[in-house]
Amino acid sequence: MLKILITGINGQDGSWLADTLVSTNNSIFGVIRNHSHPEHQTAHIRHLSEKVKIYNGDLIDPNSIRRILSEVQPDQIYHLAGHSYVGASFDQPSYSINVNTLGTLHLLEAIRCHCPKTRLFFASTSEIFGNEIDSDGLQRITTRTNPVSPYGISKLAAQQLCQNYRRGFGLDIRVGIFFSHESPRRSANFVIQKIISSAVRIAKGSQIKVETGSLDISRDWGHSHDYVRATQLIMNHRTPSDWVVATGVSYTLREICQKTFHNLGLNYEDYVAEASSFQRPLEILKQCGDSTPLKEELGWQPAYNIEKTIDELTKYWFDKL
Ligand code: NAP
Repeated sequence: MLKILITGINGQDGSWLADTLVSTNNSIFGVIRNHSHPEHQTAHIRHLSEKVKIYNGDLIDPNSIRRILSEVQPDQIYHLAGHSYVGASFDQPSYSINVNTLGTLHLLEAIRCHCPKTRLFFASTSEIFGNEIDSDGLQRITTRTNPVSPYGISKLAAQQLCQNYRRGFGLDIRVGIFFSHESPRRSANFVIQKIISSAVRIAKGSQIKVETGSLDISRDWGHSHDYVRATQLIMNHRTPSDWVVATGVSYTLREICQKTFHNLGLNYEDYVAEASSFQRPLEILKQCGDSTPLKEELGWQPAYNIEKTIDELTKYWFDKL
């Protein structure tokens, strides 16, 4: 029986991961920040309250992280917590660096000092590549990194710290370079959620139009369930290493709008407008990941394609609104 700790357990990926892990024989622990509205914060994991032991802790408070690790002595840590909003990182760059980079450093130091045998999974991001892309249109482990947002910079530094602690101190650290992925548990302010929830409101007559940034950005959009499965495969692989997690197919935001509104019997051009207020200071034009090693060596295959993800989210918002 393993002791497994999840940072970010109340987030999208952390909560789905907890859902799958509680059915195993292992003991599951989670880290949650103290919030002013705890009832909002535990919405995704309330049903697991009997099965998961929750600790209050904050990545930017190294004492809290040290205390939790020395007490739990976990065999595995899924480090999924992060300040995960690219746009917000331009407004709060210090906060992104604090949570994503220094917070990860606090975790690494706590592992090194209190439980050096612990195996760690770190969730990095395709934002580390910025606009660098290989000549075949894909991004992979060997693609040059050149992030264009404080978020991407904070995650690249954290990833390099993980690699540094793996090489320098022999820690068992695995990195997953995550491309975008969605589910009903993704925060409503991320662009796909915003487009789909707005489309549903428009179809129901309670909204007139929706404004967004450039419709020509292209992203490799997957589903959180597939990502959680990949994360477990990477964690349980025999050797620590770095992996790209991506579907290998990229869609523009325009295509997402087309598909979503079409499913609702509407033409997106009548309702969706680009607005300069949603443009970021720097933007990535295209992301598309190559997960061949993950597929060939670990047998991972995504079960969702973009149509299935849009259908699921549309149904979710239709029922919710
Ligand atoms: P998410 O839903 O935004 O969850 C982030 C989690 O981190 C939340 O539980 C949040 O808790 C926690 N957190 C934030 N700041 C913290 C702090 N200072 N101390 C402790 N916990 C803190 O993100 P996700 O979609 O599950 O993504 C999981 C990881 O993958 C993140 O690290 C993200 O950056 C990375 N990633 C995600 C995507 C994607 O498309 N989803 C793509 C690339 C990489 P609160 O509820 O207290 O805020």
